[in-house]
Amino acid sequence: MSAVTVRVPAKVNLQLAVGPLREDGYHDLVNVFHAVSLFDEVTASEPADGDAGEAPLRVRVEGESAGEVPAGDDNLAVRAARALARWAGRSYRADLLIRKSIPVAGGMAGGSADAAAALVACNELWGLGLPLGDLMEIGADIGSDVPFALLGGTAVGTGRGERLTPLPTSGVFHWVFALAGGGLSTPRVYGECDRLREEAGGPVPRPTASDDLLAALRKGDPHALGRALTNDLQPAALELRPALAATLDAGRVAGALGALVSGSGPTCAFLAESAEHAAALAKSIEVADDCRSAVTASGPVPGASVAG
Ligand code: ATP
Repeated sequence: MSAVTVRVPAKVNLQLAVGPLREDGYHDLVNVFHAVSLFDEVTASEPADGDAGEAPLRVRVEGESAGEVPAGDDNLAVRAARALARWAGRSYRADLLIRKSIPVAGGMAGGSADAAAALVACNELWGLGLPLGDLMEIGADIGSDVPFALLGGTAVGTGRGERLTPLPTSGVFHWVFALAGGGLSTPRVYGECDRLREEAGGPVPRPTASDDLLAALRKGDPHALGRALTNDLQPAALELRPALAATLDAGRVAGALGALVSGSGPTCAFLAESAEHAAALAKSIEVADDCRSAVTASGPVPGASVAG
């Protein structure tokens, strides 16, 4: 095999409960991940013979926001491929091409998605045959969202978010995502969350999964799910980017069943009743000042998989 292309979904957090700051600088989380049909593609190919002597792993990024993604050793896809080669105990070569559609620094885990896709693509290209569990272990060292991008579907993550349990769901949920210009740094949003909590005083409760949310997912009830969506990072994201409040309001006024900031933002997610409702909602949301474009998607979808 000389080239392998893998398609990998973005995630939205249906519940993001953030516990108190730990001694090690992380937070305990309860993170309900949901994979949606907004995909990046990563192709891993064998470098041409004439390229011998070049770096063993090279990356090229295509797509609207390609300029915002590091195109060297810092790229999360390169880091993942390097970690895989190390795990296999050999030096391997690959050229990686990333076609980005997931917003960069948008709170939809696009970088982690590319890392997951690179693991699946290089596992295949190099004929390693590692099982999903091994790829998830390697991925967890790259970033806490990488194991979910491999697994897909809907799952609850605990610890730093990396200990995953798949959740039963029924049916399909329809979404609109309002993409903003530019991104928000995840560490900055967590820092702001800590600052706001310190200012407010009082204890921060231990994070627990919402029973209402889990029941809504099991039943496939979008109205109940819309009411149960929560994100503890939302106040911090709104503090850092106040214009997002108007984007969320535009969706609520237009009849979204639920509206929230996705992860650390600035992408906002809106739940719709049907595909038609999502298309209509997208038109109303797109006019908000801080919305660059609104895209529709559905979930859950499978994790990183070789494109057929
Ligand atoms: P999360 O939701 O996991 O907090 P995010 O969606 O907010 O993450 P990403 O798009 O994953 O943010 O990117 C965060 C940063 O990681 C980017 O600003 C970029 O500098 C860096 N990065 C490294 N590799 C990649 C990649 N392949 N795609 C996107 N960003 C990457």
